Amino acid sequence: MRSSAPLVFRLILGRELRLWARAGRAPLLWWRDDDARAPTEALDRLLELSRRHNAPLTLAAIAGPHLPALVRRVEAAPAVEIAIHGFNHINRQPPGRGFGEIVAEDSLEWVGAQLRATVMAFHRAGARPTLFVPPWNNLAPQLLEAVGGSAITAISAFDENRQSGQGAMRLDAHLDVLRWKGGGRFRGRWRFLSRMRRLMAKRRLSGRWDEPMGVLTHHLDHDAATWAFLDEFLAAFPIHARADLMLAAPPEREALSA
Ligand SMILES: [Zn+2]
Repeated sequence: MRSSAPLVFRLILGRELRLWARAGRAPLLWWRDDDARAPTEALDRLLELSRRHNAPLTLAAIAGPHLPALVRRVEAAPAVEIAIHGFNHINRQPPGRGFGEIVAEDSLEWVGAQLRATVMAFHRAGARPTLFVPPWNNLAPQLLEAVGGSAITAISAFDENRQSGQGAMRLDAHLDVLRWKGGGRFRGRWRFLSRMRRLMAKRRLSGRWDEPMGVLTHHLDHDAATWAFLDEFLAAFPIHARADLMLAAPPEREALSA
């Protein structure tokens, strides 16, 4: 953490960061933003933050009529990667079953066809994404199977460890700047940084120093406090490109039995 970080950063993370520094380590952070559909003022603000702080950004986008314009806008931004954020981001779960666009009854063939059509839509818009981010972080088993034969090499959902295998690598986000109950709003510095401290302690105690932590943002839902915090956070911590963390991924675990 840079020494110019606000006092609250040092109060919450200082002790944990000292333990990491003593071991010659620093947390590996990456950044994913969800729900981009078009160039907007909020997107410009997001890209400007990424540029100003030299922070690589993975932008999970939804196919639609404005995708070509979005791709062109992002092309002008350094270190921004476009990912696929679902087929069309429409909830199909029955009431009371949470949110997700793939339901239990969907066949592998149907999911595979949706995936191919979506990848094609991104290709036509001029992007070549290799990462799929399921809407609402709802990762259906059919999707995991379908990515095998596709252009998608990695998946990102929420709160799991980095994994390889089953057709795609996995690199999740863990730190959401927003809380969602009753409408998206800033989670608060104390809550966000306390969760980061807990995740760091978990990694330190299990010796998984290289397990990345993903910061999750939704630029269309940020209030002023969220933008201000993001600015402080990106000034305090270096961010790594998603692709670099995947290259450094641990080897696939060997099967336990032959
Ligand atoms: Zn979304």
